[in-house]
Amino acid sequence: MTDQHYDPSEIEPRWQAVWAQERTWEVSNAQAGERPRSYVLEMLPYPSGEPHIGHLKVYSVGDAIAHFRRRCGDEVLHPMGYDAFGLPAENNAIATGVHPRDATNASIASFQRQFREWGISIDWSRELATCDPRYYRWTQWIFLELFKAGLAERREAAVKWCPHDQTVLANEQVIDGRCERCGAVVELRQLEQWFFKITDYAQRLLDDLATIDWPEHVKTMQRNWIGRSEGARVAFHQPDLDVDYPVFTTRPDTLFGATFFVMAPEHPDVLRLAAGTEHEQEVRDYVNRALTASNAERGALDKAKTGVPLGRSVLNPVNGESIPMFVADYVLMEYGTGAIMAVPAHDERDYDFARAYGLEVRRVVEGGELPYGGEGPLTNSGADFDGLPNREAKSKIIAWLEAAGRGSGAVNFRLRDWLVSRQRYWGCPIPVVHCEGDCGIVPVPVEDLPVLLPEIEDYAPKGRSPLAAAEDWVATTCPACGGPARRETDTMDTFVDSSWYFMRYCDARNEDAAWDPQVLAEWMPVDQYIGGVEHAILHLMYARFFTKALADLGHLSFQEPFAALFTQGMITRDGAKMSKSRGNVVSPQSIVERYGADTARSYILFIGPVEHDADWSDEGLEGVHRFLARLWRLAAETAEATDAVDPPASPQGADLELLRKAHWAIAKVTFDLDGRFAFNTAISAVMELVNESSRLRSQASDGALRFALASAASLIFPFAPHTAADAYEKLTGARVWEQPWPAADPALLERETYELVCQVNGKLRDRVQAPSGSGEEELRALALAQPNVRAHVDGHEIVKVVVVPGKLVNVVVR
Ligand SMILES: [Zn+2]
Ligand SMILES: [Zn+2]
Repeated sequence: MTDQHYDPSEIEPRWQAVWAQERTWEVSNAQAGERPRSYVLEMLPYPSGEPHIGHLKVYSVGDAIAHFRRRCGDEVLHPMGYDAFGLPAENNAIATGVHPRDATNASIASFQRQFREWGISIDWSRELATCDPRYYRWTQWIFLELFKAGLAERREAAVKWCPHDQTVLANEQVIDGRCERCGAVVELRQLEQWFFKITDYAQRLLDDLATIDWPEHVKTMQRNWIGRSEGARVAFHQPDLDVDYPVFTTRPDTLFGATFFVMAPEHPDVLRLAAGTEHEQEVRDYVNRALTASNAERGALDKAKTGVPLGRSVLNPVNGESIPMFVADYVLMEYGTGAIMAVPAHDERDYDFARAYGLEVRRVVEGGELPYGGEGPLTNSGADFDGLPNREAKSKIIAWLEAAGRGSGAVNFRLRDWLVSRQRYWGCPIPVVHCEGDCGIVPVPVEDLPVLLPEIEDYAPKGRSPLAAAEDWVATTCPACGGPARRETDTMDTFVDSSWYFMRYCDARNEDAAWDPQVLAEWMPVDQYIGGVEHAILHLMYARFFTKALADLGHLSFQEPFAALFTQGMITRDGAKMSKSRGNVVSPQSIVERYGADTARSYILFIGPVEHDADWSDEGLEGVHRFLARLWRLAAETAEATDAVDPPASPQGADLELLRKAHWAIAKVTFDLDGRFAFNTAISAVMELVNESSRLRSQASDGALRFALASAASLIFPFAPHTAADAYEKLTGARVWEQPWPAADPALLERETYELVCQVNGKLRDRVQAPSGSGEEELRALALAQPNVRAHVDGHEIVKVVVVPGKLVNVVVR
């Protein structure tokens, strides 16, 4: 017997060449019908520099799912592309003079090479980059479709401005008052900007969360971001300016307790109101100071409340009382109308403010100590309402307001319109012109798309778009009247590019349209979307909005882009996020060079449950490497020693033991992969099988040993495709990816079982036979699947699940 040495640097390129040459992972749109179609998609990478460990993780997850579904019989679409516009390439251009396109293309080349070296099963025929005119032509088309539908509009607004990046930011890109990207303190400016009217879709974006299989915490983040609340819109009259100021309140039942009125510093009328009063200068100073603080700081409950009187008052519509007006930074312009009625007796922040400024605190709901937020009968609220339970009073007071023409029931959303224009170079040009005659804003005709990004010399931000410097490009003719016109010089937020790329993959080479709706209907929605939880709000919300808007315009036949979502955790090292400054970065390339892609991929999924963060360990990595080497060596030696034979039909002794282990592993890995993402326990089951094969190799028959090792190779294929393909071929002569996913033989699955007690809130609700040695996840899933457990859990929130293996599962709900 020759010495068999596991050498990934020889094995891996050999199989990659086969897959590339045979275009193994390409799927066709034409041959629909026979096999169910499945669309497995990881979020596309932003190409900047080299891929990092997070990329290795997310594409290892997606590839495992893609391989599993293929071998379960699906036609799987698993494409790749690049989110290639954006600020880092542009900032790099400013720093180094390298054109953003060149830097981006160099990075894309590095991603392509590494994806191939990792053996990710990508359909390369559909590859795209969002900075490619063949792609952004259709981004521009979508913009125009939204524009024609009234969903894209240009308007003046107070916008968040990053003084460092010299561009506006979407609300979502401002974190605690700072630029999400560079950390600079964000300023407010009044500017004309382009908006997408995502707020028109607020209710549908909320309602349709019920129709998709997403992690509950992601749905909660989306719900909170949409921020729906019910209440009333109430108009307070300001007699000096003869203006009505509306407020939104969730507590119309407390209207009689409103003893003052507060406006946000950004409210456009604040300075006008203060003008000519003794407080004018004081208000001006206060507003200037307030604008530099972050919303989170301003809204914090424990912060001392500050404000300045405006020297004016408004009339409370329910009792005609004149109440003083203030400007105070605890009121945010983004929420409601930018003004509030203050009810200090029943709101903590209003209470703090009233105490600080010596204002009246008037109880209107009976109950506990002030400030009182609880339920109770009304008081001090006039003969019509006093004594009514406050919940009931809400609708009665709304009815009164409606009858009096002073307000109405209303729903408020926290969600704001999506600000999409950017004063930057490296983005998709907005395809409209501004006519110098009378036509106003005129869309570029669809047949003239794409509006190509012009070449410029100087990328440096100057507070206007660098495109404005491309004079020859800017000057154009108006498509409507033929007179002189100027091109729009703002570019689009890169989130626009990534809001539809998953649709383009389905029909990536279509030159006549963004897609053929029938082709799209074959693949969409994405069956399994995978990405980081950091995209739980922006990207996912925008993609859902695009899908709904385009469906309304007749371009799509579905309402949600991602039927199921999985969010993977981060890889840390020594307990901290990997970063160059900490010096704790593990580069995928160095791991792949040293141990091979299969080790890197398998280890990253073995390190812990993939949905959680996990800490990198070099010892763990070597352990996985030894396991793959052992599997491959056993397979090679076994294959070399004898000719292929079938496993015995009626196994006895060591054969029975080994075949049982093999069928147990088949059942276990199948269970773990089938919608559970339990990759770590799946890999661990294959490790057990390989250990058993090694232990029993001298006692078991050749057929049994070959079967066990071929099963191990077959089961590890989704994680370690090269090693698995090589080992499987040695043992069987066949290609593992062409084999159906193995099925466990129930006759060989005689596992020891025990009775698992299933409780809900400590009460016995069911019993079920559980396989001995089941892991916590398996037991948890088993218990939650029992009918009487479900009956007591459905409709409740699961707080936690206590699993005592060998005994019980207790589901705690509220
Ligand atoms: Zn910035
Ligand atoms: Zn014109």
